[in-house]
Amino acid sequence: MALIVGNWKMHGLKASLAEVAAVARAVATAELADVWIAPPFTLVAAAVDAAGGAVPIGGQDCHHAAKGAHTGCVSAEQLADAGARFVIVGHSERRADQRESDADVRAKAEAARAAGLQVIVCVGETEAERDAGQAQAVVAGQLAGSLPDAADGLIVAYEPVWAIGTGRTPTPEDVAAMHAHVRAALVDRFGAAGAGVAILYGGSVKPDNAALLLGVPEVGGALVGGASLTAASLLAIVKAA
Ligand code: PEP
Repeated sequence: MALIVGNWKMHGLKASLAEVAAVARAVATAELADVWIAPPFTLVAAAVDAAGGAVPIGGQDCHHAAKGAHTGCVSAEQLADAGARFVIVGHSERRADQRESDADVRAKAEAARAAGLQVIVCVGETEAERDAGQAQAVVAGQLAGSLPDAADGLIVAYEPVWAIGTGRTPTPEDVAAMHAHVRAALVDRFGAAGAGVAILYGGSVKPDNAALLLGVPEVGGALVGGASLTAASLLAIVKAA
């Protein structure tokens, strides 16, 4: 079954918990694809309550340490303590805005696993890298440097940076080629366990293109930003899956 993960980024106030509750009601009453939501840290615990167990709630980032003098940061252990079940690491906005390196991302992924969270590791090339014919090499390098040591609890999200929040998407053929490339890298790295790692596509997934993108071979689901902010839009994607 496909997995649809909503990434709310820095959106959402307490009133937005009604959207989580609406998604939870929908998935509890119909046979739908799995749907997870990553609200901002401030809403994680309340979203866990609003979801009532029907929708796993996660974080959008975590620190690599379990605790310590890191003002403003949140650890994987703290996310788990708040009821989170997963965490996204290595999102391109964090790689760019916070200058996170592959080694940083890998340390966060290991911290997530140590805290018992599933971890979604994001990779993806910039437009300049794609135009230069380097997309697969860039993604291979990110996977080599960012993945944790074991495949259990691991999910990979391929998100071309130029498709995030832009309304542009790669062709299904380009998505298929990259997902096959990611799969080969996962099997190379983890053996048989790598064949079972879900690979999500992310970047301008909307209700009207979800069926096309989710129908591409090796696309195990979607990481959705803007279109995950309302239950109506997120559920339209979930129903297309
Ligand atoms: C994202 O934030 O991971 C993302 C894919 O955003 P959007 O769907 O808005 O492009």
